Amino acid sequence: MKKKILVVDDNMINRKLLCKILQESYTTIEAENGRVALELLEQKREEFSVILLDLIMPEMDGYEFLEVQQRNKELSMIPVIVMTGQEDDATEIKALSLGASDFLSKPYKPEIIKHRVANTIKLRENAAMINRIQKDQLTGIYNKNYFYERCSELIKDKPANAYDMICTDIERFKVVNDLYGTEKGDELLIFVANVIQNLCSPEEICGRIGSDSFGILTPHKETYQDAYFTDIIEKVNHFDINMQLTLRFGINNVEDVHLPVNVICDRAMLAADPIKGKYDVHFSFYNDTIRQQMLTEQMITDNMQKALDEKQFTIYYQPKYDITTESIAGAEALVRWIHPINGFMSPGEFIPLFEKNGFITQLDMYVWEEACAELEKWQKAGHEMVVISVNVSRMDIYNPDLPDIIAQIVKKHHLQPKNLHLEITETSYTENPQQLIKTVNELKRRGFLIEMDDFGTGYSSLNMLSELPIDILKLDMKFVQNEAMNPEGKNIMSFIISLAKWLDLTVVAEGIETAEQVRMLRNMDCTYVQGFYYAKPMPSDEFEQLLLTTPLTEMVAAGSKIVSMTPKPKRKNITGKIMMIVDDIALNRTILAETFLDYYYIVEAEDGQQAIDYIERHPGEVSLILLDLIMPRMDGFQTLEYLKKNRETANIPVVITSIAGEKSEERALKMGAADFISKPYTPSVCVRRIENVMASEKMKGLEKNIREV
Ligand code: C2E
Ligand code: MG
Ligand code: MG
Repeated sequence: MKKKILVVDDNMINRKLLCKILQESYTTIEAENGRVALELLEQKREEFSVILLDLIMPEMDGYEFLEVQQRNKELSMIPVIVMTGQEDDATEIKALSLGASDFLSKPYKPEIIKHRVANTIKLRENAAMINRIQKDQLTGIYNKNYFYERCSELIKDKPANAYDMICTDIERFKVVNDLYGTEKGDELLIFVANVIQNLCSPEEICGRIGSDSFGILTPHKETYQDAYFTDIIEKVNHFDINMQLTLRFGINNVEDVHLPVNVICDRAMLAADPIKGKYDVHFSFYNDTIRQQMLTEQMITDNMQKALDEKQFTIYYQPKYDITTESIAGAEALVRWIHPINGFMSPGEFIPLFEKNGFITQLDMYVWEEACAELEKWQKAGHEMVVISVNVSRMDIYNPDLPDIIAQIVKKHHLQPKNLHLEITETSYTENPQQLIKTVNELKRRGFLIEMDDFGTGYSSLNMLSELPIDILKLDMKFVQNEAMNPEGKNIMSFIISLAKWLDLTVVAEGIETAEQVRMLRNMDCTYVQGFYYAKPMPSDEFEQLLLTTPLTEMVAAGSKIVSMTPKPKRKNITGKIMMIVDDIALNRTILAETFLDYYYIVEAEDGQQAIDYIERHPGEVSLILLDLIMPRMDGFQTLEYLKKNRETANIPVVITSIAGEKSEERALKMGAADFISKPYTPSVCVRRIENVMASEKMKGLEKNIREV
């Protein structure tokens, strides 16, 4: 198809002449002035490859036309050749300055006209193509390849250290796409690209180097002001979205001018990694530590396969203890790398890398295999069986054959699935919940027990608990350690423990290092712990010795009917009396138990029926009952009624625990309750109220004695 040319001239003869010259190679359309030309363009703007424009015309002259045409982004893409009456420098310069591409002077010489038109079209097409090659289609700034190319030229032109590469990406960009749609995501990218481009001075260049990442090559500076970066972040946050946007900047001073630009950018990006998620640090430099880390990573990658083949990986075992009986309830298999030159390496040094490069799946299989072999050995030696838990990396979850693989290993070593617990880290859920739910269901179906590792570190915790059929919750050690230090946090922790109990999950607290932590966990009714306080991870022979000298216990699922039947050893003013706390909500029980721990042995029950069962089986032992009114099965009123009409129990003082200001309190007092404590509980008020109740009970007793004397 022939290209179209728009010929704009008020002189009909001129128009016909031009059309005649061009018609052989082009389709021509005529307009007798600027206004008509604009109307035509309005209708079919993309169709014209070039506009031939006379300057002097009635209605709308050439200058006016150029002004309007150049202001319109799309129209301005069509090149304009201006036709001037004679060689007139001033006119030509003015036309060119208004945006014309070229000019032709009358009288028309056909060959020159054809030549100039062809040239102009070619030039514009080249420009469009170059644009496509150089510019990122979405954002309009340099694309990755062209940015790298330009950087490479600039860098090689100057000595080392002349430039810095600054790279950045939009934190949680994926969330923007997920929550607001990709269209909004695209808009954000365009917005950020604009902010960055506007910031660039003529000595700097910028480009889009990844889906949501950008690079800026800038003349080297010794120092950077935080304001430079916070200013960019502030501008980016003008984007219309209901979410705080953050960028982190990594800076790499270009020392080696021969390094490929993509490597220079990778390193700048790497520099930003450690500050991700820190809200008050906005930029960071690529330095020796990061370089060293890269070299170490390289060394590990080069050696890992050989290490696996040569069995340089060893399994250590760390026992899990039941703190009520101080017996061993299981152990976790933890891998160690004993390198012939580098010596002992902790998983923290290589697991994150293996997770990145995928090697973890091989290593994990090796560990499962070794752990099962060890179990088989113990079984053959006639030892009592202990449960071993192995770690299952989030990478393993992606493998659809995972359940088959584990099941086969277990079978090969003549074990039952219940001998092997699988620890899955919480972050697997955050990354791919659907896949994880599917895998866990399948593993459960085959009889494996699932432990949720590092619970408390992710964001999805509570949501996850309702969706995943897990058996055991491992409270992350940072969580345990922080909470122990911070008394207010104890409530959160005891809440999680109560919640877990409520969901029938066993809780194992990880990273227990002190007696204080153990004491706190005992009070919170957490039975199982793993930590240096009891034992560090140890080689298998040591663990075997330990097993032979320590009692073993089976780790049971929680949700036993009466949560704690054994009176706990207490501290300060312990009276030797038993207080029974009856409440269906574990957290409430825990708070009350915590409050009275210093004064009573505590027994807890989940409803009236359980409470009465216990009291009848232990006549005369319970000296005080804290009774919640609203409970399933047998509520507080029914319980109170039963207790009061029964001779053996009528004298046990019952203190009602209820929401403040409820009518029901009056009713309960009429029914014989001694007093009430209202929620939310204030420890000092609770203690005082109970002191009063007990004092008045004593008085009653005295009065009775006096009367009887
Ligand atoms: P994890 O599964 O949460 O294992 C518990 C980590 O806490 C172990 O670190 C253990 O030595 C450490 N630990 C136990 N008690 C205490 C304590 O009282 N205080 C302190 N500060 N630390 C304690 P380790 O062995 O260095 O392993 C680190 C992580 O590496 C593990 O965390 C696990 O995520 C991963 N890992 C270890 N072995 C394997 C494996 O075979 N496969 C996979 N996929 N990951 C593994
Ligand atoms: Mg673990
Ligand atoms: Mg853990």
